[in-house]
Amino acid sequence: MRQAPEGNIFGRILSGELPSWEVYSDDQTYAFLDIFPQNPGHTLVIPRSYAENILESSEAELAACLATVRRLMPAITEAVGAKGVTVLTNTGIAAGQTVPYLHFHIIPRSTSDSISIYNPGEQLPDEEGRRIQGAIRNSLK
Ligand code: AMP
Repeated sequence: MRQAPEGNIFGRILSGELPSWEVYSDDQTYAFLDIFPQNPGHTLVIPRSYAENILESSEAELAACLATVRRLMPAITEAVGAKGVTVLTNTGIAAGQTVPYLHFHIIPRSTSDSISIYNPGEQLPDEEGRRIQGAIRNSLK
């Protein structure tokens, strides 16, 4: 299992040093709510074994991440009543990657939204984080 470089924000979340709204966890992946959500239910999936981006992750690790993404998509969609979902991973600063730790965004969508991957959303209020976390966990049952 590769460790994230010291100070890496998602590494600190994985180690429990920083709090996060965990929605799913297994031995290879960890999923939590994005703190600046583009839409309600915006979730990030990361591998437990550190990779800076998709190119530095093994095929097996990527498969584990995508299995978690696939598992969470219907649960998140149901939890927030979304009509569709965008899954994306930014690779490199030029592409908008701000956290150097591989992560897949799961962004619930509606036909009327106008999300932009370049503009962060508003900070997630605690109460909403708790509510959406609970709804996704319920949907996973
Ligand atoms: P990217 O720009 O593709 O690297 O995405 C990084 C994402 O991480 C952004 O959507 C941020 O809102 C999100 N983010 C940054 N810090 C945290 C944090 N402490 N907890 C949850 N999400 C975070």
